[in-house]
This record gives sequence, C-alpha cells and structure tokens, in this order.
Amino acid sequence: DQGLQKTSENIFSKLSKAVMGKSKVDEEVLDELEEILITADVGVDTTIKVIRRIEERVARDKYLNAAELDVILREEIAFLLEENRSSDTSDFDLPADKKPYVIMVVGVNGVGKTTTIGKLAHQFKLAGKSVVLGAADTFRAAAVDQLILWGQRVGVPVVSHGMNTDPASVAFDAVKQGVDSKADVVIVDTAGRLHTKVNLMNELTKIKKVMQKFIPDAPHEILLVLDGSTGQNAFIQAKEFTRATEVSALAITKLDGTAKGGVVIGISDQFKIPVKYIGVGEKMTDLQLFNRKEFVDSLFK
Ligand code: GDP
Repeated sequence: DQGLQKTSENIFSKLSKAVMGKSKVDEEVLDELEEILITADVGVDTTIKVIRRIEERVARDKYLNAAELDVILREEIAFLLEENRSSDTSDFDLPADKKPYVIMVVGVNGVGKTTTIGKLAHQFKLAGKSVVLGAADTFRAAAVDQLILWGQRVGVPVVSHGMNTDPASVAFDAVKQGVDSKADVVIVDTAGRLHTKVNLMNELTKIKKVMQKFIPDAPHEILLVLDGSTGQNAFIQAKEFTRATEVSALAITKLDGTAKGGVVIGISDQFKIPVKYIGVGEKMTDLQLFNRKEFVDSLFK
C-alpha cells in the first residue's frame, strides 16, 4: 500500500531489528517493543496493554521466538482494532433505507476536515451517488471558500450562506436540498473550536436538531477528523469531541507523511470508535476506506 509506506517501513523496520537474530523473547526484546510502540504514537495505555498481554504469553509458552512474536503481534494489533472489524469488507455503499445519508463532520482546524469532505464527495460520486455539501463551518472564511472550491473540483453542489452566518441554518438548508433533490448523501462541515467546549457542544446539538426536522434519525454518522501526524493532540481531540457529541466514526488524515501510524491503533483501542477512513495525501483520490487486515499487513510487510 503506497500511501502507508512511511508508516509501515518505519514500524516494521524497527520491529524486525528488535527481534532479529533473537532466539527468545526476553525482557530486552519487550523493552524495545515498548519503545517502538510508544514512538509510533500507539499511546501509553494501549502500549502497556500490548506488552502485558505478550508477557503473559511469554510466561505461558516459555520458548517464544522472534517468528512467533511476529505472529502474536499481528494478532494483538488486530485485536486492538476490533472496533474496525466491520470495515474489513465495506465500500462506499450507503444503507438503502437512509436516503439521504447525513454525515456531520467535526474536528479542529487544520486537521484536514475540508480536504476529507472533498475527498469523500469524490469517492461517493465515483460510486454513483449524488452528493450535497453544507458549508456550516462559518467562522472561517477560508473553510467556506475551500469547501466551495472542492465542490467545484468534484462537481457537487455546496450549500453556503457565507462567513459568519448561522451554522444551523446552513445545515438546515443543506439537508433540505438533499431531501428535495433526492440526493444520496449530505455531508455537513462544522466549526471545531475546542477552546469553548460548552459552545461547541451547544452548536453541534443545535445543528443535529435542525437536521432532525427533516430526518428524525439524522445525522446518521458523526465523523471526527483527526490528524494522524499529531500524536498526543489527536488523542486529546478525540477525548474532547467524544465528550461533546456522539462521534460514530473516525477519519485519520496525513498518514502518508508520518512514520507514526500507531495513532490509528491507540485511538481505536482507547475510544472504541471505528476508524472508517484514512487520508494518505492531498489529492482528491488520496482517501481510503480503512481496512483492518490491510493495515496490519502493511505494518509487517
Ligand atoms: P481543515 O482546516 O481541517 O479544513 O484542513 P484542510 O482540509 O484545509 O487541510 C489542511 C492541510 O492539510 C491542507 O494543506 C491539506 O492539503 C492537508 N491535508 C489534508 N489531508 C491530508 C492528507 O491525508 N495527507 C497530506 N499529506 N496532507 C493532507
């Protein structure tokens, strides 16, 4: 997988060096493994969990060697990505009984939220779906302008009232347009200002409520976008946003530019929310559905 090359090369080369030529998994190998996982941004809690489980297996199977450790690590990482099990086979299909399927996108500025929405619109369009975008991140002129630009690039309509307008009103009109035009999917961008947590919560609640005027179970997906190259910040943002709203899926961006793809493992484990999409570049086509098997394989290739 080209997009994840940097992630896989780094974790794997370190892992293989750590266990190379070792006939037995000892304290030293486990220490090295711990350091590799921490460095790869797996996160302390998840790393400790992995190490502890491997220690238990070492204690049981006295003569665990490097090849066996490799197998166990794959099993352990797949286990930590358990929440993503359903993603193993899915594609850009949408549930037939939810039309339009409404996605509310949340995340702080700079993580790649607008880009991810543009890429998603492109993928849905490729899959033969009609898409409406809503520019409800009205606090930044750049966010509105960029989403309009993405709409033009991809060839999908963007509902916008400009900057500093009421986000809920934009969300209302976007969902309305989606319903009126019998669109398959409506993707609504929102502002993510973490420094005002109560405001954030209120604003997201308000946006959800106006969506529900048209579609009682909307939004069908609350997608949190996180920058995979920011390590601890991604964990902090996941914590804040899951407190503010019911995040149901994650998009982790910029995995092409980082050797620290471990954030995918840690976040999935800590927050029990599936990673649905990964961003592997700046282009329209640089979005992939997260696939647990492919991801684990890419780490150990
Ligand atoms: P927003 O403020 O969250 O809406 O962020 P943008 O969508 O404007 O993205 C911020 C920057 O990150 C832009 O320069 C994007 O091209 C870049 N970007 C977004 N996703 C990716 C990705 O998956 N890989 C790389 N390398 N860059 C990305």
